[in-house]
Amino acid sequence: MSNNEKLLKKARMLSYHEKMFQCPICGGAMKVERMASLECENRHCYDISRQGYVNLLNHSSKTKYDKALFEARKMISSSGFFGPLIEGISNRLIQMQKQKLPESGKPLRLLDAGCGEGSHLSAIGHNLQEKGHKPNVIGVGMDIAKEGIAMAAKTYSDPMWCVADLSQCPFADEQFNYILNILSPSNYSEFRRLLTSDGMLVKVIPGGLYLQELRALFYTGTGKETYSNDGTMKLFSRHFERSGFEELRYHVILDSEQVKQLIHMTPLSWSASPEVIERMSDGEMEVTADFTLLYGWK
Ligand SMILES: [Zn+2]
Repeated sequence: MSNNEKLLKKARMLSYHEKMFQCPICGGAMKVERMASLECENRHCYDISRQGYVNLLNHSSKTKYDKALFEARKMISSSGFFGPLIEGISNRLIQMQKQKLPESGKPLRLLDAGCGEGSHLSAIGHNLQEKGHKPNVIGVGMDIAKEGIAMAAKTYSDPMWCVADLSQCPFADEQFNYILNILSPSNYSEFRRLLTSDGMLVKVIPGGLYLQELRALFYTGTGKETYSNDGTMKLFSRHFERSGFEELRYHVILDSEQVKQLIHMTPLSWSASPEVIERMSDGEMEVTADFTLLYGWK
């Protein structure tokens, strides 16, 4: 498929689902115009990029998340580091679907809020289709970092990708059956607004032992060697009276290149000196993946 055909396919998909969107400035209904932009009824206009994503930010954003960071995350994802986490989330969603009455032909709508370079959403959407026998999955990936979304749109054709601000999500009310929010900031009032009445939020936060081997190296003597997610969990249950959680812990052996990538994609490296990073990048290393999965219903 040529680049032009790919872009047209993405614009058509946006056009087909344009009713899911709403203008982040005025809340107006949106329409795809000339396969080139999303426009609201009050003429606020958001371009569809050459890669096929929509930029719905009305200001430019500078984040700490640059292209190198998303490339690192993509490599770590393909190394299988997140594999058991992605399987766990997928199985939970498949199980939820089985409990529901079969709504024949109704598509399943999935939002990844803070999707980065898109690998998690792509993998989970794929699992729902293949293992969950749910052919009709509509995925939308959203992130404030344009670099991540551009990479996602370049790599994956299927989900729709948009650059947008969490505090002004560019979607109409009650559009999503599931919202994923994986190792990424939240906006609970927006999430509640966007979920269907029986929808579910899946938030993933680091557990206390997440990357403990790296924390020990970087943070010795700083008081940050251990980490507590108590505050996040309390805040979550304040917003979702009906909630539950699950803990998922496993170990992954990474080679030195992967360790480097992992360090690069986590906030750990932001305060570390290059010497520390250089010193520790020799040989294989076992690291702990420790996650808490929070589930919330309206
Ligand atoms: Zn508008």
